[in-house]
Amino acid sequence: MAVSPKSRTEGAIWGVCVADALGGPVQFKDPNTFEPITGLRYVAPFRQPAGSYSDDGSMTLALANSFVESEMQYNHIMSIKFYVEWMTHGRFSTIDRAWDMGYSTRKALSIWKKSRMENIEGAQARIDIELDSEERSGNGSLMRIVPVGVVYWRDVRLAREVARVQGRVTHPSLPCVEACEAYTELVCGVMNGHTKQQLFDTFSAFPFTHRALKERMAQYKTISDWTAKTSEHITSSGWVVDTLEVALWAFFKYDSWKKGALAVVNRGGDSDTAGAVYGGLAGAYYGVEFIPQEWKDGMQRKDFIGGIANKLAQGHKEQAICNTTQRISHETETPVVDPSALTWQSSVKSSIPTINQNILASTLCFTNRPASFTRSSKDQLRTQLSPMSQVNESCVFIPISSEDIKTYVTQAWAEVRPIAEVLPKFTGSHDSFQ
Ligand SMILES: [Mg+2]
Repeated sequence: MAVSPKSRTEGAIWGVCVADALGGPVQFKDPNTFEPITGLRYVAPFRQPAGSYSDDGSMTLALANSFVESEMQYNHIMSIKFYVEWMTHGRFSTIDRAWDMGYSTRKALSIWKKSRMENIEGAQARIDIELDSEERSGNGSLMRIVPVGVVYWRDVRLAREVARVQGRVTHPSLPCVEACEAYTELVCGVMNGHTKQQLFDTFSAFPFTHRALKERMAQYKTISDWTAKTSEHITSSGWVVDTLEVALWAFFKYDSWKKGALAVVNRGGDSDTAGAVYGGLAGAYYGVEFIPQEWKDGMQRKDFIGGIANKLAQGHKEQAICNTTQRISHETETPVVDPSALTWQSSVKSSIPTINQNILASTLCFTNRPASFTRSSKDQLRTQLSPMSQVNESCVFIPISSEDIKTYVTQAWAEVRPIAEVLPKFTGSHDSFQ
């Protein structure tokens, strides 16, 4: 039976949280040195009750909620603010504090907090200097990235780009960025209803450039190479290469969410994060109904998890997007604003993050959206804009290159303008970076 996108979306969020909680009790332990996990248990390493999700679930919920509150658009600044709120106040945690946090995440979020989000580019550059190294190639970005693919599954290219940018917020090293991107592509495939063979083919074609990651994944020449591998040949550690491998091993090898989840967490090591990475992908693949009800019911803050999962699935609007950071124009009296006529100040340019050659996300916002901007207007825009653009009722979401942002925005506006001109009282603004 076909799994609905709603069930897949909820399955991804619940899958991360439940498998995180399943793995928590045996993290840091060597395989076969503990009573095998068969269900939710007291999370002894952190003295938390059974059903407690940790940093993996918390950050996934934070990222998911940033989409929910941004009309299902990627909101870079909001996602970081939510992470910082989790670190400082325990928002999105099971209790009033963040009780599990990796080194890179703590370091990066401290830099973000100190920056007060006033200099995004500067903060990211500092994080790159501090954390872009092989030694800092942990799994802390991979563990939270599933919402990106869940939201952008119709546009794989955009999803991959957003995953790279989002991953760098805390984990800028190459294997972390590539793992996030490859995983996100798989999530998109799952959301599109692809079979495991199709997903294997997709993953096999991913152009890894990080040597260790490339070599590790190159072992798997057919899907049978995954299914034939036995557990004793799989290691679960905090290294992103190991985590991606163990999660995919369980995904390809087992035929149910439950079996795969138990196989992953019983490898010990970084069991909660390996569980979370598996749980999100597999939750989207099988659907939320196939995550045991007993475990969902046994989760701490189950209503909170369910609420965010449901809102993400419904795409409910909670708060308007357009957290404007740099506006190039907003003329309420003028129907159309032409950004090419505006002078770009150096301060505007410097506020735009330039992360190597990465594509960044930008949003052209329809402030004071006219009543005439109907669904047909929206559809008309969608068909005329570049295929990577997304349109909703208040925004045109257009990925832009940091290489030549002015040219791109000007061109993008040229595409919008013919439509915009027919809309009365249309006004426009540009957010440099959501
Ligand atoms: Mg954890």
